[in-house]
Amino acid sequence: MVQIVLKALTYLDIHAHGRLPVDDAVTVACLSMTEIRHGHTGHDFTTAGIHPWWLEEISNDEISLLKTHIEKMAYADKLWGIGETGFDRSYPEFLEQQKELFDWHLDLAEKCQLPLIIHNVRSGSDFLEVLKIKKPTTAWIFHDFRGNEELVKSLLKLHPQCFFSFGLSLDNSPQIRELFPLIPMENIFLETDNQKHLDIHDIYLRAAENLKVDLDFLKSQLWHNFQKLKTHTDLSIS
Ligand SMILES: [Zn+2]
Repeated sequence: MVQIVLKALTYLDIHAHGRLPVDDAVTVACLSMTEIRHGHTGHDFTTAGIHPWWLEEISNDEISLLKTHIEKMAYADKLWGIGETGFDRSYPEFLEQQKELFDWHLDLAEKCQLPLIIHNVRSGSDFLEVLKIKKPTTAWIFHDFRGNEELVKSLLKLHPQCFFSFGLSLDNSPQIRELFPLIPMENIFLETDNQKHLDIHDIYLRAAENLKVDLDFLKSQLWHNFQKLKTHTDLSIS
């Protein structure tokens, strides 16, 4: 069990790629392919997975190798979570392979009892199908969620430990700005993802405005959500 003490009212970025450390923010860093190959886990909170987009660029042998590295990190307790992984229907030619890979990530997350970071592009029904067959016991965090209220409800019904994370869409998507306040606050997170120009502070401000809540209240709510997740990190707030 890794023990980490954090300052109260810190910002939390639940999913970010290649981001430099930010003052007064804690980042859950999603490793790049190169970082996985080098077993690089120099962050307090690290996730590793084979992104569905990578299927276009790498061979089966490379996938096997990445799997070995990820398993090694997971079993050595170097990861906070598994992913990102998921389905992306903008690449239908890879759907079968995406499904196989998602199952692999899900099994690893279950074996190690770690949260799963999920990439979902127009694939809500695919995740519902999985949830009808498997009964996951750890959190599923849908990053940059772009689904609708009905999908949120169906997912939560099948797996109450589903979380929905938002970033850029709070700025540029009127549908997401409408959806956001309808999601239970105990099931949300905020993120910068791969948007280099985005600042987690601005995303929190935008989210607090949207929910009509105080910024500090939002920060403590998201810490509460984070602390509640089943992981190997024992978090305490100073
Ligand atoms: Zn991402």
